[in-house]
Amino acid sequence: MYPVMLDVADRSCLVVGGGGVALRKAQGLVEEGARVTVVAPEVVGPLAKMADEGRLHIEHRPYEAGEAATYALVFAATDDREVNIRVFSDADGTGVWVNVADDPELCSFHLPGRVRRGPLQLAIASAGEAPFVVRRLRQLFDRRLGAEWAEWVSAASRFRDRVREMNVAPSEQEALFDRFFSATVDAEGLGARVPTASEEAEWLAVPVDHIESAGNDRQTPTDCRDEASGRPFVSLVGAGPGCAGLLTIRGRQRLFQADAVVFDRLAAAALPCDLPAETQLHAVGKIAGHHPIPQEEINALLVRLARGGKRVVRLKGGDPYVFGRGGEEAEVLRAEGIPFEVIPGVTSGVAAMAWAGIPVTHRREAVRLTLLTAHEAVKSEGQQVRWDLLAKDVHATIVGYMGVTALPEVVRQLLDAGMDPKTPAAMVEQGTTAAQRQVVSTLAELPAAVVSAGLQPPALFAIGPTIRHAETLDWFSRLPLAGQRLVVPDAAKAVAVRLEEAGAEVVAVPFPVGPAARVVMSAIPVTGCVVTSPSEVDWLHEERGGAGWSDETQSWCMGEATVARARERGWRRVHTLGESTECGELVARIAADRR
Ligand code: SAH
Repeated sequence: MYPVMLDVADRSCLVVGGGGVALRKAQGLVEEGARVTVVAPEVVGPLAKMADEGRLHIEHRPYEAGEAATYALVFAATDDREVNIRVFSDADGTGVWVNVADDPELCSFHLPGRVRRGPLQLAIASAGEAPFVVRRLRQLFDRRLGAEWAEWVSAASRFRDRVREMNVAPSEQEALFDRFFSATVDAEGLGARVPTASEEAEWLAVPVDHIESAGNDRQTPTDCRDEASGRPFVSLVGAGPGCAGLLTIRGRQRLFQADAVVFDRLAAAALPCDLPAETQLHAVGKIAGHHPIPQEEINALLVRLARGGKRVVRLKGGDPYVFGRGGEEAEVLRAEGIPFEVIPGVTSGVAAMAWAGIPVTHRREAVRLTLLTAHEAVKSEGQQVRWDLLAKDVHATIVGYMGVTALPEVVRQLLDAGMDPKTPAAMVEQGTTAAQRQVVSTLAELPAAVVSAGLQPPALFAIGPTIRHAETLDWFSRLPLAGQRLVVPDAAKAVAVRLEEAGAEVVAVPFPVGPAARVVMSAIPVTGCVVTSPSEVDWLHEERGGAGWSDETQSWCMGEATVARARERGWRRVHTLGESTECGELVARIAADRR
């Protein structure tokens, strides 16, 4: 097998077939600028939409003998092998490259697994011998290669232009390239970073000014999402406590206007799954074994993205100014002269309690609310929380952030200062998400109860008289689907609404699955998925190796054909649903089938 990268821009390409697989091939070609004709008696909705938008042409009819010969590149993806064979021999017989989906014998070329970061592409292939390996490797690299590689390649291309302008000997050029590469690539961790202008200047030994002005000339034109694009701007947006529905409307608007989103781990689940694939996503939290990025680097990233003319959203869990270091980031932006705004979020200290049935204030019982960081209790000196005063304030609620390890020390200090050991107290882990767990106890007994329940961060504690209401006002955990995190096709809006009302956390995924949807799926374990057609099985199959999915993930499949496809693909824990299962029945089935 001989690898090449084809320039298909403006070339005529044929896709025979109108289903999900044909759609994927057509999209891939259209993205690269090919002139695509789809031949099929019937096509799926997204293909029809692409035709309406003038992005491709559809011939609503069966394939006609011989027609493949007139194209530069041909794909067939019909479920009729006779047709596929005809397309193959028409094309192959006249020297046209042809690929029939899932039929290696009818292919004169195979498509590699692809990982893409801007102009950078990794292609993975196994000469058709072990496609399952290709899929898994693709997922692996897709997770390992951060969004920064796209920016890095652009920086590398800029650097190359500068070096060329210098007209130096080839060996010197290579030495400069080496410098760039070794200083910006973390070969072990597969990380990359964009060098600062002054670093580049140092490598090239030319004045910084020169580089900065040259850099500005080269700003990539941003499409006109609004008139503010192209000017540096940062929105510090609160993502809310975890449940995607608790992101504010304005926060959501800003995400859709953004060129780049810099998000924390706690904010990942709130990303809209249908964010455009071009939106750069920068994960800066502790995600799947990666080290958290130091605050200074996050600050530098915000400044660099904004300076590059990008509209940036800095998405932070809860509210940006409640223990989120949002204030520090705003100060940096102010100091750098970068305009910014702050869009508040629903803070977890209030929201997680609401989900657990705890009103944080209540007339006559608690008329003051204190939000504090529990870390203060374990500081050896300079504690800024007056536990002695809080202990005496009986008509009040204390909500403690970052409180799992510090809890015993908090409780000790409050008891030492004379607080009633019987004061109601609770801890809530991953509040408002499908992974929420909670423990309700008393001040004196809470630490032991938390240990025996095995609660882990992120979690909050609450101490005060109103916690006693948790017993009666606990509305969430009583919902039939509480604890279920279900991936559902974005198109199935009515289903999503009903599942959510029944307590499930719904991840409404558009097909094809974009990068934002992948981040959301991997944020918290997916307990199940609802699948309504065989092509959705195919789409999701590509995703199942990702974090969030496991052998425990269940699948509720509608219709015989969907179930058959899921079984063919080797899915386990597949449940069969009728073709036209009603929403109410679906809720009942999931409630009954879940473990
Ligand atoms: N700015 C955030 C808080 C960031 S500090 C906000 O306003 O919510 C991080 C701490 O927030 C975690 O250690 C935990 O104590 C708390 N936290 C955030 N999300 C949470 C959630 N869904 N459930 C419980 N605690 C949460």
